[in-house]
This record gives sequence, structure tokens and C-alpha cells, in this order.
Amino acid sequence: MALIREKDSKRLHLKSKLMGESLVGKSFLKSLEYGEPFKVFPDVSVLKVGGQSITDIGAKAVIPIIEEIVSNAKKHKMIISTGGGTRSRHVYAIAMELGMPTGIIAKLGQSVSEQNALILSTLLSPYGGIKIGHDDIPKLGAYFAQGCIPVVHGMPPYGYWEPLPTEGRLPQNRTDVGAFLLAEVIGAKQCIYVKDVDGLYTDNPKIDSNAELIPRISAKDLIERDLEDLVIERAVLEYLLSAKNLKEIRIINGLVPGSISSALDGGEVGSTIYREDVPAAIEDKGKVGKA
Ligand code: ADP
Ligand code: MG
Repeated sequence: MALIREKDSKRLHLKSKLMGESLVGKSFLKSLEYGEPFKVFPDVSVLKVGGQSITDIGAKAVIPIIEEIVSNAKKHKMIISTGGGTRSRHVYAIAMELGMPTGIIAKLGQSVSEQNALILSTLLSPYGGIKIGHDDIPKLGAYFAQGCIPVVHGMPPYGYWEPLPTEGRLPQNRTDVGAFLLAEVIGAKQCIYVKDVDGLYTDNPKIDSNAELIPRISAKDLIERDLEDLVIERAVLEYLLSAKNLKEIRIINGLVPGSISSALDGGEVGSTIYREDVPAAIEDKGKVGKA
């Protein structure tokens, strides 16, 4: 980067395109040339194990999932990200009644997803499971080199700085978002959500028995459909629109044996929500899922 010397004061400056810019100018931001972002771990899958949907069910759901993760660990590098679930909902309800602001509620949610990370990492410990914190992301390379299975709590670390929700008081960026942003920043191969339903439906299948499975849909179409309820946090869809690495996310049923293995192998299982700019051939396949 070139150095330039101020004429009067003789002070040195670094010459760059960003110098002196507010960094909010519309045409300036458009004019910047961004290369492809560096993919740190293009062979790693992020697996988000749901809190309410999986961990809260207990041993019946969790143990077979742990076994399936372990049986895939030699073949697939993965990071396990954990949800919060019922305990988060409990503490959110109390906090809201007591007038807690969003940043405090987000902080509370973080500690619950951390409880689940401690449980899952303990169960995975005999097979290389290791509980990591958000500051340990730069250590992932070393963990993978040793055959570890890192387990991280899913709640993104906005905490007190949680962006203010457009609706109500609850943080919009919860553990589904955390798993997604983690997969995006490390340039992961894929982001798979392990839940207790076969995928995304036209409505909550536990309430509406006529709800139909949507195998493939674009994030844009799904946002436009403005469904009453969703299997995933709405903010994930918005982030997928502007993702630079991830092209899609997948929602699978962890209660069905083999689903995790199939998703890791790239098989057709669950629902896929994809970014707009995927190749036309895949887009055509997507029409199956459109109502
Ligand atoms: P997690 O604990 O993994 O965050 P959640 O319980 O928050 O999972 O979300 C998954 C649940 O979302 C499913 O069990 C299902 O009952 C519900 N749900 C609501 N709307 C939909 C939908 N459109 N399609 C599928 N599931 C839905
Ligand atoms: Mg959830």
C-alpha cells in the first residue's frame, strides 16, 4: 500500500481507496471491487442441533443423533452448533414480564444454548468432542487436524448489542442465525438444521395436518410467501439473500435415522432453501417445491 506525504505538515498517510470516505456513500460502496471471500473450511459442515426440537426431547432423540454424528465424524468434518429451546423460552417469558430490554434477553438466551453445548460436547467427548467458545473460532484448524468434533453454542455473540427487533422485544438473531453466520464466516461446505420435522412445510405440521412439505424453495420466494409460521428464524432468510459463501441451507428431521448421514453425503433429504443466484439447472429442480 503506497505511502503519501502531506505537503504542508509532511505527515505520512496510507493511500487507499477508502481513505477520507465516510464508508456509507451509496455509489462509493457499489464501486468497491470485492473478490471472492476466502473459504477457510470449505470441507466442513455446520450441523445445528435444535434445542426445543431435539435436545429437549432427551435421550430418546439425543443419543441416536450423537451416534450418527460419531459414525460420520471420520468421513465428514463438522461443527455442532446448539440451540436453546424450552429453557430459553422460560427465561425469555420471565425477562419480558420484568421489562428486560432485548440485549439482556439475548444474553440470557446465549447462556441456555451454552448449557446445551456443554451437554452435547460431554456426550461427544469420548469421540473427540470439544466445547469451544466464540473466541475459539480461529483455533478450529488445529482442532480439525486432531480429529476433534467442535461444539459451539448457537446464539450469536451480539448479546447486549443485539440489533433491535422490528417487532416486539425478542432477539431476532437467535441460534438458527448463529449457526448460519458461523457457516458463512468460515466458508463452510453446508449448514444443516437438525430439527424434529421433515423440513419446511406450508404451515406448522404439528398444528395443520394439511400442511405440505416444500422440498426446495428460494429464500426470496419464501420471504414473499410470508407464511404464518416457519421452521427456521426469519432473519436467516434475509441473511441468505446476501450470503457470499453459502448457497443454501437444509432442514432435516433428526428423529429419522439416517437423515444426518444422507444430508452430510449431499443426498436428497429434508427441505433446501437456496439463494437466488444458483445455476438455472438447480432452479428448475426447485419448481417441484413451489405451490
Ligand atoms: P429448534 O429447537 O431447532 O430451534 P423450533 O422448535 O424453534 O426448532 O422450530 C421447529 C418447529 O417449527 C417444528 O417442530 C415445527 O413444529 C415448527 N414449525 C412452524 N412452522 C413450520 C413450518 N412452516 N414448517 C415446518 N415446521 C414449522
Ligand atoms: Mg428455534
